[in-house]
Amino acid sequence: MPGFELFGELERQEVNDVLDNGVLMRYGFDGMRKGHWKSKELETALQQSFKTKHAQLVSSGTAAVSVALASAGVGAGDEVIMPAFTFVASFEAIMLLGAIPVLVDIDDTLAVDPKAVEKAITPKTKAVMVVQMCGSMGNMDAIQAVCDKHGLLLVEDACQAIGGTYKGKPLGSVGDLGCFSFDFVKTITSGEGGAVITNNEMYYTHADHYSDHGHDHIGYDRGLETHPFLGYNFRISELHAAVGLAQIKRLPEFLAIQKKNYTILRETLSQIPEVTFRTVPEGGEESYAFLNFFLPDLKIAQDVSKAFKQHGVDACFHYYDNNWHYIRKWEHLTNLKSLFPISEEIKKGLDYLKTKSFSQSDYYIARNISCLVKLSWTEDEVKERASKMVEIIKEIIHA
Ligand SMILES: *Cc1c(COP(=O)(O)O)cnc(C)c1O
Repeated sequence: MPGFELFGELERQEVNDVLDNGVLMRYGFDGMRKGHWKSKELETALQQSFKTKHAQLVSSGTAAVSVALASAGVGAGDEVIMPAFTFVASFEAIMLLGAIPVLVDIDDTLAVDPKAVEKAITPKTKAVMVVQMCGSMGNMDAIQAVCDKHGLLLVEDACQAIGGTYKGKPLGSVGDLGCFSFDFVKTITSGEGGAVITNNEMYYTHADHYSDHGHDHIGYDRGLETHPFLGYNFRISELHAAVGLAQIKRLPEFLAIQKKNYTILRETLSQIPEVTFRTVPEGGEESYAFLNFFLPDLKIAQDVSKAFKQHGVDACFHYYDNNWHYIRKWEHLTNLKSLFPISEEIKKGLDYLKTKSFSQSDYYIARNISCLVKLSWTEDEVKERASKMVEIIKEIIHA
């Protein structure tokens, strides 16, 4: 997945083009910029790649989630259902709007379980956020059916699944709104950056205004723009967009390398009967950003994770013991630690976290190892890594 691996001449050219021209800002300066519109070009490329009518670049993936929710009118006191296995950005983005994150269990896809989603719905529920973790996806038809039945918005965080598809649709374009991140570890990078994609024109217009102080972008004199509603600054710069523009041109190349390396790892690990793989829903194709597999129990997974580190098999994660991605280690959320006072409504809304069990998620996450698929490995390196992994796993399982 890592964007930090492959960038060079093309990225440099695009950035230099912005620097030579001198307009680092994406809006305005129409006369000075002599036709340079990197952000707009990247938005057009995103619309084409992800087959949606609209794309709005923002400053990060976290910003994309906040902007997506805000654009659809999610705000104070609304509940947003999200998975217990994700990245901390998910609840941050929800809480920024004064909304309440309602964490639910994942299933064997490692995304939200549609049954858990349905159980968590209350009169306050506004949206369901599916996080397409580690290059794959949830049972989208079943989740969509729950959303349709209850009139809920479906937001897709596809930050880790750029290039994956579900029944022919690019991930991110399946729900009402999709979110991407182009931070330094994602499949394509712009250094920092993100995007919201949607087919809904109103959400798009809201995202466009909201991410730039509510300015209406009427397109002649910035100072005469009106403000149909309050906004914020989640803008991307032309420099970041320039890097992203070079990277999106290379996306097919990156995805092909990912798939090739993933396939070698997976085929080699398949030799071990005790190793099973995450379920990819029917009609889904992963982006191959990670290889996720299950081991027989927690102890074996912990030992394998430790042995991988000792033997130089890097970039493999046991999320059960990882502070970033799983509810077990989110002390700052479950025991709410904030720099500033948080509304009583949110505090009360989060009370359930003190007692709620996530045993179904534990069942999957405790046994899961997730290995990043890198792009810079040579074929020999991947093969060597794969056999080393098999050796380690077999030794631990048969100990
Ligand atoms: C990276 C990531 C984000 C946040 O993206 P940033 O650009 O780093 O803010 C959100 N959700 C998921 C699942 C991510 O992996």
